[in-house]
Amino acid sequence: CGIVGYVGASSAVDIVVDGLRRLEYRGYDSAGVAVPEGGGVRVRKRAGKLANLQSALGEDPLPTSGSAMGHTRWATHGAPTDPNAHPHIDCDGRLAVVHNGIIENFAALRAELEANGHHLTSETDTEAVAHLLEEAWEPSGRDLAEAMRRVCRRLDGAFTLVAVHADAPDVVVGARRNSPLVVGRGTGENFLASDVAAFIEHTRDAIELGQDQVVAITAADVTITDFDGKPAQTREYHVDWDI
Ligand code: GLU
Repeated sequence: CGIVGYVGASSAVDIVVDGLRRLEYRGYDSAGVAVPEGGGVRVRKRAGKLANLQSALGEDPLPTSGSAMGHTRWATHGAPTDPNAHPHIDCDGRLAVVHNGIIENFAALRAELEANGHHLTSETDTEAVAHLLEEAWEPSGRDLAEAMRRVCRRLDGAFTLVAVHADAPDVVVGARRNSPLVVGRGTGENFLASDVAAFIEHTRDAIELGQDQVVAITAADVTITDFDGKPAQTREYHVDWDI
């Protein structure tokens, strides 16, 4: 339902949780955050209000990190439980993904993944994407944006996806089809969100992703391509209204 991603020098988890709060008006049933670091991707997620996630983070804080992403879920596939909350991770816990929308062909993808030895633990359509990214990681030359492009070419339906990988902790990657994704350009920091409301406190310079595009943000750069890797046309604008 709501998605926030961040790369920069500020406290990434705090920025992401604050961004999720600004998207609360959309309604949600669960919330979660992920931080990539060398040892793996660290996830906290809880069914219910953001306060539940915040108390989980208070009891067991995530490491300080230069990047993070978060999600508020409005369940479509699977009940609103902790295991079904996003982010979802791969078998090795190296990468995590959050998703708004519906992956129409998830059942076929899930069957294929399970036949290939993947063990999926949730009832969501989303979890298949984490395992597809895991399969695409090595063939993509360990480039998360390229892995995302390969995976998106296989997906049917509506999706905003954001992903992080433990082996690339300074990049956050997003993609969209039939569901919104905007970039917030800061100075030495960049944002991804499903709605500008998540980041306008930090920057009002936005880029709206077009249909079937993939974006990679680092603290300094924003790189946008289509699903084939060609440079993409985008719309840059200044958010001059108040929310
Ligand atoms: N289809 C996904 C799920 O049920 C994402 C729902 C959403 O857009 O929040 O987990």
